[in-house]
Amino acid sequence: MHPMIKPALRRAWRDRQCVQFGVTPAHAVTLGPVDTATGALMELLDGTRGLPLLREEARAMGLPDGRAEALVHRLTAAGLLDDPTGGGPAAAALRKRAAAHDRLRPDIAALSVIHPEPGGAAGLVAARRAIGVQVRGAGRVGASIAATLSAAGVGRVEVLDGGITEPGDVAPGGLPAEAVGERRDTAARRLVRRAAPDRPPRAAEAQDPAGGPGLSLVVVAPRDGLAAYAPAASDAEGWIATGTPHLYTGVVEATGVVGPLVLPGCTACAGCMERGRAELDPGRGRLLAQWRSGRRRTVPACDVALATAVAGTAACHALSFLDGGAPVTTGARWEVSLPHLSWRSERIAPHLDCACSAAGKTERRHTSAVGPAHDTMNGYTRSAE
Ligand SMILES: [Zn+2]
Repeated sequence: MHPMIKPALRRAWRDRQCVQFGVTPAHAVTLGPVDTATGALMELLDGTRGLPLLREEARAMGLPDGRAEALVHRLTAAGLLDDPTGGGPAAAALRKRAAAHDRLRPDIAALSVIHPEPGGAAGLVAARRAIGVQVRGAGRVGASIAATLSAAGVGRVEVLDGGITEPGDVAPGGLPAEAVGERRDTAARRLVRRAAPDRPPRAAEAQDPAGGPGLSLVVVAPRDGLAAYAPAASDAEGWIATGTPHLYTGVVEATGVVGPLVLPGCTACAGCMERGRAELDPGRGRLLAQWRSGRRRTVPACDVALATAVAGTAACHALSFLDGGAPVTTGARWEVSLPHLSWRSERIAPHLDCACSAAGKTERRHTSAVGPAHDTMNGYTRSAE
């Protein structure tokens, strides 16, 4: 191990004895008391020295025996230590692909703030390469999500959509103006490839060791955001049956929606949502039928900035889940509307009459897991290597 104080966190002395690592309350850690000599020893924990050399340097500084180990132990316990050679075989393989590793450095640094284990962040980002995600919809929201997931190192991002790219599909993070007139799926595939930090993994590398359908997540981001705002239960039957996690997102009129992230059998699904809404609003079924009928089609209202914000948020939630976390959209929906843009959330309750059987189950909260080839989350086996 070559101990390195996590470079992602700014380091500053609060007073003569206390060091604060990090700026924001969400992730900052204070360590103290720290004497001056130990403070100087800290400067040497930059990933270039192994423990034997650190021990020698500590002795040369006049520090008592065992001080280097004690400091490393203390920093590890505080989640402040990283190991630039750690993270397992996937991280080692990523470091060998230097250009890709350089591209993903800021992403690894960001995860290092969240995951306390030395080398854990590199392991997680490297593991994304074996993950398969399907994005349904290549409009302003869907294409941007697909590109972002690909840029974040997700190795297999499929985009499904029909038809030909229209001028209104173009967005800075999504399909480019050159794609107008080209098949949407072809254009989206090229976008995903260009956004990737690396060439796509070979089939053997990407093989899903769980032997399942190989998709860790489906992102439902239809061009007509109504299908994300009021998703049809019938469209989700296959994902419920196969236990495939899915996340709804889109823009409908001037409202953006992210969530719910559905973990089949554990959290509320589209069917639960449909039933719950119908109970609250007797006119709901009649409205839905007319909204979905497609008569009197107008220009889809989809503000490009709102679509980009929604796509970025949805991609963050997807990555948090894929990395083993439990984003707040798990079983809940977040909405934001122009012009005030204040995000609001609504918990979606599982419905007793829904066949998904999420009702009555206690939602098992899971904490982030790092490293192993399979992390079990909410009863799902996720391929991580
Ligand atoms: Zn349900």
